[in-house]
Amino acid sequence: MALTNIWHHRRVAETQTRACWICYKPSSSVLITPDSKDFFYICPGHLKDRGFCTPDADEAAAIEEKKKKEELDKEIEKVKKEYEERQRLKQEKRKKKEKEKGKDKQEKKDEEEEDKKDEKEKEDKIKSLSEKSESQTEVGPRIYTLHKNFYQMRIKRIRDAEAAKRNRERISNPATFPSVPSGDP
Ligand SMILES: [Zn+2]
Repeated sequence: MALTNIWHHRRVAETQTRACWICYKPSSSVLITPDSKDFFYICPGHLKDRGFCTPDADEAAAIEEKKKKEELDKEIEKVKKEYEERQRLKQEKRKKKEKEKGKDKQEKKDEEEEDKKDEKEKEDKIKSLSEKSESQTEVGPRIYTLHKNFYQMRIKRIRDAEAAKRNRERISNPATFPSVPSGDP
């Protein structure tokens, strides 16, 4: 029986909480092996305890990287926004000037149309940006390795269960008893 020491963090519905393996408090978090061979309920708090488990280094680094990139994106967006605002004010000023001198009606309409379009584009950008950062807060590490003591406990549990199952089968099915030696010389 080979049990991998890789555990994926999954969430179940709040109505399906079960006792945490460690402290028996109800939890909706589950750690499960990729092959679903073993799983257990666990408080999210224990996942932060390095004496219990360690998040996958590559994934943790990727999450960190993503966070950094998103922070950078936000900064870039801020700069862009400021620039756009400045452009807008400049254009307005220009327009006002031209209005005083008298301006072609169609020209003015086109400019207004353009402003509206730019404005909408900017709003869409900001909206998608904030949605992205919202979803980001939900994402923590999802892949863990159990501390060897707890990993051994999981293996022991499975071994004990398998042994108990074998015993039950042997008792309920006498045919599985080893055959009596025939006694031939
Ligand atoms: Zn717990």
